[in-house]
Amino acid sequence: MKLQGKTAIVTGAASGIGRSIALAFAREGANVAIADLNQGAANDAAAQIARDGGKAMGVAMDVTDEAAVDAGVAAVVKAYGGVDVLVSNAGIQIVHPLEEFTYAEWKKMIAIHLDGAFLTTKACLPHMYKAGRGGSIIYMGSVHSKEASLLKAPYVAAKHGLIGLAKVVAKEGGKHGVRANVVCPGFVRTPLVEKQIPEQARTLGISEADVISKVMLKDTVDGEFTTVDDVAQATVFFAAFPTNALTGQSLIVSHGWSME
Ligand code: NAD
Repeated sequence: MKLQGKTAIVTGAASGIGRSIALAFAREGANVAIADLNQGAANDAAAQIARDGGKAMGVAMDVTDEAAVDAGVAAVVKAYGGVDVLVSNAGIQIVHPLEEFTYAEWKKMIAIHLDGAFLTTKACLPHMYKAGRGGSIIYMGSVHSKEASLLKAPYVAAKHGLIGLAKVVAKEGGKHGVRANVVCPGFVRTPLVEKQIPEQARTLGISEADVISKVMLKDTVDGEFTTVDDVAQATVFFAAFPTNALTGQSLIVSHGWSME
């Protein structure tokens, strides 16, 4: 068990990639806080972990709301005695050509992806520093932390920004043994991606099958989607890595779509 006795907070963990990470962390022995806007689904995921013999709690949290983030992190620290791992994963997608984005849509994307990463990091770091046990902060980036695609201006900008944030947190956290890294998945068939397939088909004027084969998976080595389990395994690796040797890094998990 690679995370025995550790406490992990995973945001956006009621669905998709975050949920898979929460289940994997629990299997590795961690106490897991499933923080999500969708409290019902967060509680369901926590109940599933408990049925499987693990320890988990659901936490209602909008990652763009500083008071909600601070209260959620405080509740986890109270329940489990600290926080060792943060996975800042909550995210959404909105796709348009840049000139069709409203300013409100742009701000919403930046708020969830970047403000959320900042607020959750700011709330967890003092607990990690004070406990003196080190810690691991993992940001859910994307191949879009390294590459650009049509229709995704705020997403690509925010995902690139997470790499900068991780590098600063790595430098500031180093003397406390707090590490910061970014996992960069390719396309994973979660609700976030299922929603995009018809939207991109409409905007690009192509079929849904072509969105999958000619847009999403075009540059992979094998035409395969990345899975939630692939991403969870990479995240466990960062969470459990024991030294500062692995900090300020980003790891692409994308069937070779990007090899940067
Ligand atoms: P998903 O839609 O399955 O899950 C996202 C979760 O985030 C949901 O449970 C939702 O309720 C929650 N959420 C949304 N806004 C929130 C907020 N303000 N506060 C708290 N929770 C909030 O999506 P997913 O595909 O699992 O995406 C998770 C992360 O992975 C995102 O950051 C996404 O950008 C990233 N990612 C996804 C893919 C992919 O192909 N699916 C690829 C690369 C990166």
